[in-house]
Amino acid sequence: MAQTITVIPGDGIGPEVTDATLTVLKAAGADLEYDMQQAGLIALQEQRNPLPKSTLESAEANRIMLKGPLTTPSGAGFRSINVEMRKAFDLYANVRPVRTIVPGGRYEDIDLVLIRENTEGLYHSLLRRSAQRAVGAKDDPIMIDGFPGLDGEVSWDPRPISRAGSERVIRFAFEIAKRRQSRMGIPQKVTCVDKSNVLRGCRLFRKVFNEVSEQYEDIESNEAYIDAFTMWLVRDPEDLDVVVLPNMFGDIATDLASVLQGGMGMAASANIGDEHMLFEPVHGSSPKYAGLNKVNPIAAISSVHLMFDSLGDRHGDADAIMCADILEKAIANHLADGGAVTYDLGGTASTSEVGQAIAERCAVLLAEKFASA
Ligand code: NAD
Repeated sequence: MAQTITVIPGDGIGPEVTDATLTVLKAAGADLEYDMQQAGLIALQEQRNPLPKSTLESAEANRIMLKGPLTTPSGAGFRSINVEMRKAFDLYANVRPVRTIVPGGRYEDIDLVLIRENTEGLYHSLLRRSAQRAVGAKDDPIMIDGFPGLDGEVSWDPRPISRAGSERVIRFAFEIAKRRQSRMGIPQKVTCVDKSNVLRGCRLFRKVFNEVSEQYEDIESNEAYIDAFTMWLVRDPEDLDVVVLPNMFGDIATDLASVLQGGMGMAASANIGDEHMLFEPVHGSSPKYAGLNKVNPIAAISSVHLMFDSLGDRHGDADAIMCADILEKAIANHLADGGAVTYDLGGTASTSEVGQAIAERCAVLLAEKFASA
């Protein structure tokens, strides 16, 4: 493997969960170099730029990023660096697997993956600025005079959805379903979730979905509206395999889905483009827990599992496949054996204790692999 990756610990609880993750990574036998970089509030404070040039250059060169959460202060005129990074590296598919690996939870035997379109829709700020300019408004909100049903101070976000943007993420979802089908030996279904009965952009998304689905005859396809889907997601999640959604619906559905697997402390994600990949926990920077060594690092550690899994899939890298296997078993065994867990899973262990315990399991599994080789 012998690769350098860009590591951005991030804000709030980011450095703590990243430390625990790096401890685990080293124990899993990964042949990696780490290029430590900053982004977000910490970068603004220390380098006067929330997305420094050195971070962008490092990510451009290394192509693989491991990132902690970044704070986006609400209403402070601070753009979302997460959104900027997705755009900068065209990370169009946000992959969020949902698996129940914590024993005794409310849900069991769930193994699904949500694929969120990551670059268009309501997060397309460029079009928002153009729309503002088109009506001659410098700032948002603007004043509208006498338009029926919209009078006075108005703020709006355009929601562009393109054929090309939809097609690449939908195709990505079908490819994931194909891989799952051959790996698991279980027929897979891709569900398109939108609001195409009301919203035009969703109508295009659904149309493209139907076209692409015809090219994957061995994968079942299915459709749902987002409102009904949220109920379905918590009522019958075992019916779902791969789900593809436009940006904002995907953002909301994936946080909801994290509850199925034990909460935000368990949910990992990958942001995938054709050239670059970024792996991160789904959760945010949780400022109230920052520095307390208290939060669950498993979401961040699982994002590294996703990294190895993606590298294995993309490049057929044998070391990456081995590291993915070790990490998956270490995390699952730790939880199944009643290993130390943090407060959110009903335990009292610290972030670093959980990281250390999973690292020790990785070291044992690695030694076993070498012994049997
Ligand atoms: P959050 O995910 O930080 O926290 C919400 C709650 O989830 C916490 O209070 C806590 O109870 C729980 N939680 C989160 N992570 C946990 C963990 N590892 N272990 C145990 N419990 C955990 O969401 P928020 O409070 O809405 O956002 C805080 C900041 O993070 C905001 O500035 C937001 O913009 C940012 N954010 C960043 C990202 C990202 O970088 N990808 C994602 C979401 C939010």
